[in-house]
Amino acid sequence: MSFFIDVIIPVPLKKLFTYNVTASEADFLKVGMRVAVPFGKSKIYTGIVYKIHQEAPTAYEAKDIQQILDDSPIVTEKQLQLWQWISNYYMCTLGDVMRAALPSAFILESETVILKNTIKSIDEGILKDDEFLVYEALHHQSSLKIHDISNILDKKNVLPVIKRLIEKEAISVEEEVYEKYKPKLVRYVKLGASFSSETALQQLLENLNRAPKQRQVILTLFSVSATTKKPVKVSDLSSESGASTAVIKSLIDKGILEEYYIQTDRVQYSGEDNEATKNLNEYQETALKEIKNAFVKHAVVLLHGVTSSGKTEVYVKLIEDTINQGKQVLYLLPEIALTAQLITRLQNYFGEQVAIFHSKYSSQERVEVWNHVLNNTVKAKIVLGARSSIFLPFDNLGLIVVDEEHEQSFKQFDPAPRYHARDTAVVLANMHGAKILLGSATPSLESYFNAKQNKYGFVEITKRYNDVLMPDIELVDIKEKFKKKLMKGHFSDRLIEEMTETLREGHQIILFQNRRGFSPIVECNTCGNSPQCPNCDVSLTYHQYRNQLRCHYCGYNSAMIKDCMACGSSELDTKGFGTEQIEEEVKLLFPDYKVARMDLDTTRGKYGYEKIITALEQQEIDILVGTQMLTKGLDFRNVKLVGIMNADNMLNFPDFRAHERSFQLMLQVSGRAGRTDERGKVLIQTYNPYHNILQQLSTNNYVEMFNEQMNERYNYKYPPVYKQIKITLKHKDYNRVDTASVWFAKSLRQFFKDNVLGPESPPISRIRNQFHKNILVKIPKEHSLSKTKKAIIKVNNSFSSIKDFRSVKIILNVDNF
Ligand code: ADP
Ligand code: ZN
Ligand code: ZN
Repeated sequence: MSFFIDVIIPVPLKKLFTYNVTASEADFLKVGMRVAVPFGKSKIYTGIVYKIHQEAPTAYEAKDIQQILDDSPIVTEKQLQLWQWISNYYMCTLGDVMRAALPSAFILESETVILKNTIKSIDEGILKDDEFLVYEALHHQSSLKIHDISNILDKKNVLPVIKRLIEKEAISVEEEVYEKYKPKLVRYVKLGASFSSETALQQLLENLNRAPKQRQVILTLFSVSATTKKPVKVSDLSSESGASTAVIKSLIDKGILEEYYIQTDRVQYSGEDNEATKNLNEYQETALKEIKNAFVKHAVVLLHGVTSSGKTEVYVKLIEDTINQGKQVLYLLPEIALTAQLITRLQNYFGEQVAIFHSKYSSQERVEVWNHVLNNTVKAKIVLGARSSIFLPFDNLGLIVVDEEHEQSFKQFDPAPRYHARDTAVVLANMHGAKILLGSATPSLESYFNAKQNKYGFVEITKRYNDVLMPDIELVDIKEKFKKKLMKGHFSDRLIEEMTETLREGHQIILFQNRRGFSPIVECNTCGNSPQCPNCDVSLTYHQYRNQLRCHYCGYNSAMIKDCMACGSSELDTKGFGTEQIEEEVKLLFPDYKVARMDLDTTRGKYGYEKIITALEQQEIDILVGTQMLTKGLDFRNVKLVGIMNADNMLNFPDFRAHERSFQLMLQVSGRAGRTDERGKVLIQTYNPYHNILQQLSTNNYVEMFNEQMNERYNYKYPPVYKQIKITLKHKDYNRVDTASVWFAKSLRQFFKDNVLGPESPPISRIRNQFHKNILVKIPKEHSLSKTKKAIIKVNNSFSSIKDFRSVKIILNVDNF
């Protein structure tokens, strides 16, 4: 009798591969274990056993597996069920899902690059002979590939050796996106080294007699460090001595003080006693009761709570209940909202039971969390994670919280699986019989619609915690202001007035501009030409800081041009504006205040993001200019004024969700203002103050926004009324992609008639030298989604059997964003 296994391998192949196993292997193997399998001419992959059976494949001769890699499954049956669901629903292969789901250290393959573990040195005595040979080789070579190791050990089956070396923490696996978690950096000062002697110090204090403020700072530094015997924070020194940070800065500039940063690690739990969770106020208490009631009938509940209503504390109570029942909790957040502030808050309540899972962690750390979750240990009762944490091997999941559920970054855009983590989480909860709470101050139309249809339970909190007033939102008509010459650069007189007042009172300001760079486009005044990216169909953006032109799609950059490339004229003008230009203008308008900028450019570097956040928290920044990075979950107590520089470029974005998103974005930014007892102020500059979205925003009227947007979605057959599948075709030859897309759309119309739109060129029709065409299939609620997908797959299969079209790349995006 022969035995076979079907194996998932991390490549985008439609079918599973079948391999031959011996009877004893078949007996030992379980679904979810890893096996090393040969593939193609010489490749080796790690595969996951999906099925063990006795049917020989008909189309090919099954090869033997190379090796069994695990003693017990690393992927559970429930996970495989979820993978299957994702693969069906989002129209991708199980291999695609496997690659997204497993930490890369689990997927050893021919291309894997092995490195020495530099973080930790190990005792070589624990290594077996073959392990030592590999380890030794890594002293001479910084990295090795699998076939190098095959040569060293003179055998093919090397994956088990590598696996053991990883487990012994002797080696690590290189990853493309590898960034260590960024610890919080706090700024400290000490006396400059040249003043350490008694005499030098005496001399210094004498010299400072004529600078009493500076002298006071030095004296305070002594008394503080003498009493606390701890490093002295800049912010503490400033408040103790009554001197501004500017005075301290001048001492640093003179070399009298030295500044240094200490990493205060916010991830490692320090092991102190857990805090008791907070007592809820009456609104939170009511909401909690209602949520629990709603969970009796509904697995999914939407919590619509205004910004700063204390939603997190309500989640905390539900989390507490769940872990007390011995069950696991998944707390899902968009990547950028996964801030140190929130991590600390949960660790204070739940201590070491909180595990963090996101892309900033190394593969090794992710493997650790994976194993804690798989074994349901005490160290991962609560997983706080971004999108990909839905792939963890939960054993006994009781609750999922999806915070900021409206965030579009829950949807993976590229590569496949193009899954939506919120929607997938609903399926995951279902498999475990768990409850799932979606929370937001600005719910997605999808979720609110589901709640209104009674598909989801629904609970509201309409009051901010501590009766903090909602910010006062004022619309400023800049068309009018320009006419009356009341604008300075991009600042209206109203905005300048409010800023002056806020700064005078010692409060902080956030300015929001939804574009980075200095000024998006350079345009020739003579001929109107603007420099284009050579690889993409977009204008290049001007970045003043580096005096460069850059493409935001492919990263292309060149030095800023002096003359027009079309007509040679030197009269170039910059149109539109970005964060960098706003920063420049603010510095000119308020030269005495400290201005900083937060966007992709300033936060890219090591610690960039944390440094800015910390500086704002410690009030070393008066005015922060930023992009939508600012909207996420940050709680800044001293920010009183938020200025939105230009609402129109968000509202006019060519996308059917642009209005909904503008509302969400602006309301979330506004939520940063006035989180304490003083009322915050929000100024929105716009050419069109009568725009419905802005009116709804200024009256904080979510429901009116919802009703109006839903009307549009009905009229134009958009989600959530219709389902949507977007098909993108890509090729470097325009004519080919054009012909191919016309063929594809025509074939689809035979099934779906008028519910097929396109093919159309998207607003940016060429990216990285590939021309794009889009086709949209709209699916009425009453049509079967699975039948629709079957038809699309059928069309796609005939398409790829046409020789001319084979090189055209097809991307299927279900529920596209
Ligand atoms: P949301 O998530 O709704 O924006 P948060 O949960 O962040 O609101 O709460 C806003 C602020 O109010 C936080 O600083 C939080 O610590 C505080 N807060 C909320 N609920 C309570 C409570 N029951 N007791 C004490 N402080 C609370
Ligand atoms: Zn020109
Ligand atoms: Zn480009």
